[in-house]
Amino acid sequence: MNKEIDITCENERDSWTEQAMEILVAKKAGFCMGVERALNMVMEAVSDGSKEPIYTYGPLIHNPQVVKYLESLGVKVAENMDDIPNGSHVVIRSHGIGPGTSALLEEREFVLIDATCKFVIKAQEMARQLYDEGYTVIILGLKNHPEVIALREFTNNEAMVFGSLDEIPNFEDPPEKMGVICQTTLNTEFFGHAIERLKTQVPDLVVKNTICDATTKRQKAARDIAEEVDAMIVIGGKESSNTRKLTDICRDRGVDTYQIETPDELRKGWFLGRSKIGVTAGASTPDWMIEEVIRAIGDFGFRRRSDQLKYNLDKALKQDPRHA
Ligand code: SF4
Repeated sequence: MNKEIDITCENERDSWTEQAMEILVAKKAGFCMGVERALNMVMEAVSDGSKEPIYTYGPLIHNPQVVKYLESLGVKVAENMDDIPNGSHVVIRSHGIGPGTSALLEEREFVLIDATCKFVIKAQEMARQLYDEGYTVIILGLKNHPEVIALREFTNNEAMVFGSLDEIPNFEDPPEKMGVICQTTLNTEFFGHAIERLKTQVPDLVVKNTICDATTKRQKAARDIAEEVDAMIVIGGKESSNTRKLTDICRDRGVDTYQIETPDELRKGWFLGRSKIGVTAGASTPDWMIEEVIRAIGDFGFRRRSDQLKYNLDKALKQDPRHA
């Protein structure tokens, strides 16, 4: 069952709000286990007090609001390791790093806090194993995504990367041994189509599906809900690959879909004549942001009749830090 909220008309003179509007929140939406763990590790380091300065190697998650909040606590973002002073605590984000980058970091006097997600570690191990066993490795994913860049390092930067069906070439003389892994947040439907295409050329293709459980569940929940509603709101960072995939999934279902980072981006016109709205959120979106978006939809002239959203607010950053 999806979580349902009834919203009823507050202003009877406003004709478009006379019809009650229902908001369905996807059963699985928002923070995943890996992101939550990374945030908790950073928050623990901050509260420890003895670990300053703390740097994250790249933005910790693809959510500018959360990254800004961490910056207000003194956690700095470094895109380049030359910008990090020796002796700093450096957080490796959930996307992980490859062996080359790891060796460079080790050469410096950093204290590493490794928040690499366990699902990413599994994909890295598979990449290494295929490469060591002599396979030509294909990574399905986005070339410039940090997780994919790191995965490729586990194949000595030799793996081919394909982010869409159009990018998959016709192998006239395919290598004898070929193996596929994928970005943990890959669209599960793209994965299926890509494997089908590759298998027509390489019948003995070795396939390691490394899409993580959180991604599979969030994408399924988005598909389920998109079938039921008149419009979808997808909440998440503009740079968040998993959020963009949720948006694509909803659009592929033919439903009007709007991707936003914050409630300020909502437009009243999106809800004109709609009776059922769906809400989902990427893996880097905290629950308080989902709640804020739902509240903001209500502020357009609807009043919430009942609130059945259940949030577990006891974890760091699940609560809006501005009111903590
Ligand atoms: S999306 Fe999946 S792989 Fe990425 S951090 Fe979350 S649980 Fe880990």
